[in-house]
Amino acid sequence: MALHHGMRGRRDKEERPEFSVNPLYGEANPVSGMSGEPPCHRFPDGPMAPTTAYQFVHDELMLDGNARQNLATFVTTWMEPQAGRLMADCLDKNMIDKDEYPRTAELERRCVAMLAHLWHAPDPDTVMGCSTTGSSEACMLAGMALKRRWAKRNPVSYPATARPNLIMGTNVQVCWEKFCDFWEVEARQVPMEGNRFHLDPQAAADLCDENTIGVVAVLGSTFDGSYEPVAEVCRALDDLQERTGLNVPVHVDGASGAMVAPFLDPELMWDFRLPRVASINTSGHKYGLVYPGVGWALWRTAEDLPEDLVFRVDYLGGDMPTFALNFSRPGAQVAAQYYTFVRLGREGFRAVQQNTRDVARSLAERIEALGDFTLLSRGDQLPVFAFTTAEEIDTFDVYDVSRRLRERGWLVPAYSFPPNREDLSVLRVVCRNGFSVDLADLFLDDLASLLPELRAQTAPLGKAVTAFHH
Ligand SMILES: *Cc1c(COP(=O)(O)O)cnc(C)c1O
Repeated sequence: MALHHGMRGRRDKEERPEFSVNPLYGEANPVSGMSGEPPCHRFPDGPMAPTTAYQFVHDELMLDGNARQNLATFVTTWMEPQAGRLMADCLDKNMIDKDEYPRTAELERRCVAMLAHLWHAPDPDTVMGCSTTGSSEACMLAGMALKRRWAKRNPVSYPATARPNLIMGTNVQVCWEKFCDFWEVEARQVPMEGNRFHLDPQAAADLCDENTIGVVAVLGSTFDGSYEPVAEVCRALDDLQERTGLNVPVHVDGASGAMVAPFLDPELMWDFRLPRVASINTSGHKYGLVYPGVGWALWRTAEDLPEDLVFRVDYLGGDMPTFALNFSRPGAQVAAQYYTFVRLGREGFRAVQQNTRDVARSLAERIEALGDFTLLSRGDQLPVFAFTTAEEIDTFDVYDVSRRLRERGWLVPAYSFPPNREDLSVLRVVCRNGFSVDLADLFLDDLASLLPELRAQTAPLGKAVTAFHH
């Protein structure tokens, strides 16, 4: 959540002259007799009629962006009406209340089993897994499991002298920096070099020592959509173990890719087929095709998830074990995830993801053909690509392009890469289910029509827009 600073910087609506409610817009409230607009920065004195309150809030939200034109987010912005109905049916279900809602709990269990199957868990009976609010929570849980396992192996040195560390690329999503900060783990980051925009296996192995709790490999870098070489990372760590005896587990952050690769790249070795992979997370609300609010974390075996992190709560009835940061949480997303799995199956998922990747690849190619841009990735791993202005372009930059696209309603973020490629600024397009070939055509037309004006600028206006956060 954005952390809000009270009323700072807000125009105080109460300073305006008082307006009465337009009778065509709202209705005079028979309960409170309120006839004016309610205050919006202090707690209102009395109630207002539901139709008026609805209109009041609805109208303000109208000014939010059009999510289908948002090419910045990975998160699902379109589901079938049936899925929407199912979610509305489940709005009142609390995921933690597994005794009151045993069928919802059962759907969660089935989703875990299906993901274990999809990700080739060697023994579906010993796999552990849970739903979460998203990949961030799933990564916190996976990171805690790694840290606790390491701590149990080092009861003398921790917490007395040793400080745990976690190895990752500088391109990791911010959740890993959060994990390391919140749980007091040193983040050891492998920088980008040249045209390598993600983790280098050997560099990762070289950073490991006896206090390394694990290596994070990202299946689908948020910066450019490329898959990190998980199998090569495991091989470098096998080699490290042979040389030094250090046995370092791998966590795969498959926030996006764990729901793409199984369908489009079945030969790619990245999951539990690699014995070193201890745990995997994904965002059900990204390429799992569910509206925001669901992620998944799975551990290969019960040994990978220390039992003392699991809590049993019996005061809601029952004593189902849970591993979570939240307590109460909506159940609708889990029902919607199960719906998506049974609705599409492997073949359906393959078709949806293939279509999205086809749109990404063809759009990337056509942007390259405009001549003003250089592609850094081509949408052939995640259906995501990054591009920058061609070397000879000196009158505009990626920030100008991002700003001008906004005028047509398209949200395409511009940002600079992390160390050691801070010199490189890029635009990124995330293609999702619902961004059709037709919409991609319209987007390309808009981009192409902006170019004459951008080329005619005397110099780039640059990074006047607020920085983009992954
Ligand atoms: C999106 C993303 C996350 C965070 O996921 P949320 O579901 O938004 O919490 C973590 N890692 C990667 C690689 C991501 O793409």
